[in-house]
Amino acid sequence: MSGHKRTDVLVVGAGPVGLLAGLTLARRGVALRIVDRDWRTGAHSYALLLHGRSVKLLEDLGVREAILPSAVPLRRIRFWDGTRCRAVLELEELSGGLPVPVVLRQDALEAALENALSALGVSVYWNHEVAALVPEADGVRVTLHRLEKETVGYAALHTEWVVAGTKESKIPWVLAADGHRSRARRALGIEFIETGPPQHFGVFEFRTSGCDQAEMHVVLDAEGLAAAWPLADGFCRWSFELPNLQPLETSRDKQRLAVQIGAQVFPALADQELPPLLGRRAPWFSGNVEEVRWRIAVRFERRLASLFGRDRVWLAGDAAHMAGPVGAHSMNVGLLEARQLADTLAGILAGSDSPARLDEYNRQQLAQWRFLLGLENGLRPAPGCDPWLASQAPRILGCLPASGRELAALAARLGLEVAN
Ligand SMILES: Cc1cc2nc3c(=O)[nH]c(=O)nc-3n(C[C@H](O)[C@H](O)[C@H](O)COP(=O)(O)OP(=O)(O)OC[C@H]3O[C@@H](n4cnc5c(N)ncnc54)[C@H](O)[C@@H]3O)c2cc1C
Repeated sequence: MSGHKRTDVLVVGAGPVGLLAGLTLARRGVALRIVDRDWRTGAHSYALLLHGRSVKLLEDLGVREAILPSAVPLRRIRFWDGTRCRAVLELEELSGGLPVPVVLRQDALEAALENALSALGVSVYWNHEVAALVPEADGVRVTLHRLEKETVGYAALHTEWVVAGTKESKIPWVLAADGHRSRARRALGIEFIETGPPQHFGVFEFRTSGCDQAEMHVVLDAEGLAAAWPLADGFCRWSFELPNLQPLETSRDKQRLAVQIGAQVFPALADQELPPLLGRRAPWFSGNVEEVRWRIAVRFERRLASLFGRDRVWLAGDAAHMAGPVGAHSMNVGLLEARQLADTLAGILAGSDSPARLDEYNRQQLAQWRFLLGLENGLRPAPGCDPWLASQAPRILGCLPASGRELAALAARLGLEVAN
């Protein structure tokens, strides 16, 4: 940063949220730098559902064409009580011509965003870790480490990342999209409050001929949640909530290699467990299991930051919240936050927006997340609602692939309404 061209906004983290923030800032002509401590984008599907609002956002940013070839449009969701299909939720024609949600691997989304940034002349500074942030009245003092691989011991047996250089600079604004362990959040002393017990999921991606390309399935049974999504090229993903599974906390770290390196960390999860799980939790699923290409155990915590930032440092995405996997709220709402925050910072820098807009951002997002995490209001049955759906209303909230008005509209199709 010092000794380089001017930086008005430092984006910390090049996950989907940081990349989208960077793209928004670049399109607004803001002098930005985007850094990530890792060496490349993620290599797995992780959050694979894009809400209609996110697809629209990508369209506005000129990225929709790049994702279309690998995106699978979803037309409906079937809700099961285990053995019986209790409701079919049609996703078409939601509101104002919004596209339907699509299934898209998170790594494909990240690659498309990075390419779009690169086309605007902005490169991600991979292997650059923000080691410290000290907020000051007129900016943020940032310590940045440049990391390099060093081979330790006998050649090629073991490599580790070491700090090859350190720089300190003062940056006017920091947009922190640095994930659930956010250093920025911790530097501000913002609490990351647990809002509910964690959920453990076993995730399997496999080739099958039995997955309807237009449908997502959600199972709400006595063991918890399970969900299935169709993937491109004949694969599908099943995620099963497994109340007795206790994967290590480190399982939430993204994998950057295209191979499964976590197997030894999760001895409890093996390919052979998939057929009995399908037989028990989704006996109606007629698909065969041909080739399991990825399996992982993940612990999904539910957490909310006590603030979305202050003064010159603002949070978006997993840095500020964590939620369950089925509705993919954390990433999708994170993308909307990235857009709003980046637009606001661009406006403030151009003199057309007041910093008070940032306090508004904080208030809006806290309210939205208190709803999404079931801490306030929530969904309740409207008159005439099917009794089974009524009994499942709190669980259904976390499964709907939308937020805001669109979530309320989807809930209404199931006979549920937002409680005021
Ligand atoms: C194994 C796994 C499975 C998942 N499965 C699902 C799922 O099924 N459904 C679902 O909805 N969600 C799932 N998620 C969560 C989903 O991936 C996240 O919600 C999404 O990635 C959030 O995006 P983000 O950009 O906010 O954060 P991240 O994608 O976590 O990106 C943060 C980035 O910041 C970088 N960073 C962190 N600290 C620093 C620092 N100090 N300096 C520089 N860079 C830094 C990191 O390297 C990372 O690239 C899963 C996540 C994991 C890890």
